[in-house]
Amino acid sequence: MSDYVSSLMEEVKAKNPAEPEFHQAVQEVAESLVLVLERHPEYRSAKVLERILEPERVLMFRVPWVDDQGNVQINRGFRIEMNSAIGPYKGGLRFHPSVNLGILKFLAFEQVFKNSLTTLPMGGGKGGSDFDPKGKSDNEVMRFCQSFMAELYRHIGGNTDVPAGDIGVGGREIGFMFGQYKKLANEFVGVLTGKGLNWGGSLIRPEATGYGAVYFAAEMLTTRHQSLEGKTCLVSGSGNVAQYTIEKILDLGGKVLTISDSGGYIHDEEGIDRDKLAFLMQLKNIQRGRVSEYAEKFPKAVYTPVNPKLDYNPLWDHKAQCAFPSATQNEINIKDAKNLLKNGVYVVSEGANMPTTPDGVELFVKEKILYGPGKAANAGGVAVSGLEMAQNSMRYAWTREEVDNRLGMIMKSIHKSCVEASERFGTPGNYVNGANIAGFLKVADAMMDQGIV
Ligand code: NAP
Repeated sequence: MSDYVSSLMEEVKAKNPAEPEFHQAVQEVAESLVLVLERHPEYRSAKVLERILEPERVLMFRVPWVDDQGNVQINRGFRIEMNSAIGPYKGGLRFHPSVNLGILKFLAFEQVFKNSLTTLPMGGGKGGSDFDPKGKSDNEVMRFCQSFMAELYRHIGGNTDVPAGDIGVGGREIGFMFGQYKKLANEFVGVLTGKGLNWGGSLIRPEATGYGAVYFAAEMLTTRHQSLEGKTCLVSGSGNVAQYTIEKILDLGGKVLTISDSGGYIHDEEGIDRDKLAFLMQLKNIQRGRVSEYAEKFPKAVYTPVNPKLDYNPLWDHKAQCAFPSATQNEINIKDAKNLLKNGVYVVSEGANMPTTPDGVELFVKEKILYGPGKAANAGGVAVSGLEMAQNSMRYAWTREEVDNRLGMIMKSIHKSCVEASERFGTPGNYVNGANIAGFLKVADAMMDQGIV
C-alpha cells in the first residue's frame, strides 16, 4: 500500500469509526487511484478524492409506525446525498435489518463511480432503513413506507435526489412511497424510479440490473472470443437481481445451477429452466416464500441450509465456468474465491454491490480471470433508472426493445471505458482499476470545474 493510501485510510478510519464496509470501499478505490494521482497531481492538490469521500449531506431520521397488533414500532431512516457534481443524487433505498450508516455510506460512495460510468448525468446517493419487510403484512409495509416518506419527501425531488429500489425495496414499496410523496408534495413527478408501468415506470427497469450483469459478462467473454452459450453458471440470491440474471443467462444459452436466500441455497444439477424460474418468481415476489420450498416442488434439487459454523459458502463450491454473486456484500470470501477457481470458474460478474472481500478480489485479479466488479457489472439498473428519468421528463415512454437496446449499448460502453482506462494506466485486463479510474475522472473533472463547494 502506498504512503498516500495508508495515511488517507488512517484519516478515514479515525473520522468514520465502526464503518468497516465504508473503509473497505474507500481503500479499494484509493489503491486504484494512486495510478491517476501520480500522473495528475492537480487532483491531489485540489483534494478531489478527499472531498468525494465526505458526503455532501447525511440525513438520519425517526420512522415511527403502528403494527397490525397496535404496537408502536420505531425504525431509523437514512439518506446519504454523496455527490452531485454530474447530476442529481441517485441511488437505491435498502430496507434490511443490517442497514446502518456505514453500509449506506459504502453503497453511496460506490454509486458515485457507478453512475459516472453509465454516461448518464447522475450524481450518487443511497438510503434506506433497518426495517425488515420479511414477515410483515402489506398494510404494515404501507404504513412504514408512508412514515418513511413523510420525512424523506422534503429532501428529495426530480432535480435534487431521485431514489430507487435495492434489497427489500421492490415495486410494492416504491408504489407506497410514491403515493405518499405525491400526496405530500402535491405534484406528479419522476421523484422515484422503479415505478409501475402505468404511472411513469420504464419497461426493462425490473430486469435491468440482472440483464446488465449478464451483458457485462458476455462483453468480458468477447475479449477471449467466447460467449455464454453452453456455460455453467452459479448464481446467489433469489431476489430481483438474481431472477433476471437467470433469465438472461437462459436467453444466451447458459445453464444455471444455484440460487439462495439468507436461509440456505439450492443446487439443481438439472439446471433452472424457464418453468422453474417462473415458479421461483411466483414464490419470491407473490408468495414471499423461502428458496427451501423450491426443493419441495422439484425434489431432484438439493437444499442446504446455512451452517453458521462454516467459514465458507458451499454454494461457490460446485464445478462451473461463471459466477454471478447477486445477494449482498462480502458473500465471497478468500476461501470461496479459491473454491471458485479450483472448480473452473473464470468469469465473475457482480450483480450485488461489493460481494467479494478484498483478498478475494486480489486473487481474481492476480489470476487474471474475467472479473467484473459491481460498480461496472451491475450499473445496468441505475442506467435504466436514468432512462426512466429521461422518459419522465419527456412525458413519453420508449418500447421494450428501445430500452433494452440502450441498456445493451450502455453496458458495452461501460465495458469499453473500463478496458481503455485500465490500459491507459498500465494495468490491462484489470477491470477494478478500469472502473474506479474511468468513474473517477468524469466526476473529478466536474468538481475541478465547479470550484471548492
Ligand atoms: P432483493 O430483491 O431484496 O434480493 C436480495 C436477495 O439476497 C434475497 O435472496 C435475499 O435473501 C438475499 N440476501 C440479502 N441480504 C442477505 C444477507 N445478509 N445474507 C444472505 N442473503 C441475503 O434485492 P436485489 O435488488 O436483488 O439486490 C441484491 C444485490 O444487488 C444487493 O447487493 C444490491 O445492492 C445489488 N444491486 C441491486 C440493484 C437493483 O436494481 N435492485 C442494482 C444494483 C445493485 P432473503 O430474502 O432471505 O433476505
